[in-house]
Amino acid sequence: MKILVTGAAGFIGMHTSLVLLQRGDEVVGLDNLNDYYDPQLKLDRLAQLQAFSNFRFIKLDLADRDGMTRLFAEEKFERVVHLAAQAGVRYSLQNPHAYVDSNLVGFVNVLEGCRHNAVQHLVYASSSSVYGGNEKTPFSEADPVDHPVSLYAATKKANELMAHTYSHLYDIPTTGLRFFTVYGPWGRPDMAPWLFTSAIFEGRPIKVFNHGKMLRDFTYVDDIVQGVVRTLDRPAEPDAAYDGKAPNPATSRAPFRVFNIGNQDPVPLMDFIDAIESATGKIAEKDFQPMQPGDVPVTSADVSALTAWTGFEPGTPLRSGVQRFVAWYRDYFRV
Ligand code: NAD
Repeated sequence: MKILVTGAAGFIGMHTSLVLLQRGDEVVGLDNLNDYYDPQLKLDRLAQLQAFSNFRFIKLDLADRDGMTRLFAEEKFERVVHLAAQAGVRYSLQNPHAYVDSNLVGFVNVLEGCRHNAVQHLVYASSSSVYGGNEKTPFSEADPVDHPVSLYAATKKANELMAHTYSHLYDIPTTGLRFFTVYGPWGRPDMAPWLFTSAIFEGRPIKVFNHGKMLRDFTYVDDIVQGVVRTLDRPAEPDAAYDGKAPNPATSRAPFRVFNIGNQDPVPLMDFIDAIESATGKIAEKDFQPMQPGDVPVTSADVSALTAWTGFEPGTPLRSGVQRFVAWYRDYFRV
């Protein structure tokens, strides 16, 4: 298959592209290589992909309307995995416009490309953050998601609504996957696993928000990629369910789906820190801080719907995933 992977130089985009390339798909990777975090890390990820002859890289900004129109028209992708976005909850308080440009304007450009070029399936990244501060756990797709508590979460919820519209108006099969805290080798320097590990190795205190009273459904990146690829491979069948309701045949012409994808095993933040301490062999100095604006105390995924649809099974226990991340980090930074 000829597949566009947006955000291919990003953390999840690199891992997803690798799996598709290894099984022989033709992958076109798109990224703007922005400097939200160290662009050298993105270039190093890209180098892993450029070793494959079935990979091509295109440097392009999602918000470049003409560029995106041309790309889709020229390449005629069969399927699209849309992972490029301005990620991060906290940064959305500092730089809201980056989220509008990449996550809203950019998403319309992806939808338009799919619409005009008969893309067979668009799989895109949503986020557990759409559940906001919901107290009922685990989070299920049938739960209300009307109260995003950051602009980042609002753009991800907006993506689901926009995909819904395009799916129904233009027959584009779309599947949104609500990722739950993804970690693993080549991870994101702005996320807790990396921040904790780097601080521990450098002898700096780690910031522990909400005084450590948080539960996170940390999900190993290989499990996420397994779910993304299983989803991408599903043929489009008109049996979509959304928010737990069957689609109305009068209005539903194309499958529109949204699923949770997580480890289904939320762990206390302090246990996660303990796993990093074990893997690094060092004890962290902890700087306990209050809850950050935009953050939520709990994330917890019910993945039964995705399992039923694709056979997805998360399988990586936290401690072995953390060990693999720390081993990669040591190797990458030679520490
Ligand atoms: P990432 O930041 O590592 O990857 C995103 C990539 O997209 C980056 O390489 C960036 O350069 C690129 N990008 C951003 N804006 C762009 C634009 N306007 N044009 C072109 N390229 C652009 O993030 P990630 O962790 O790999 O996340 C991938 C997707 O999953 C994102 O949509 C993110 O919101 C979502 N997500 C991630 C997590 C997680 O825990 N990592 C959780 C929930 C949702």
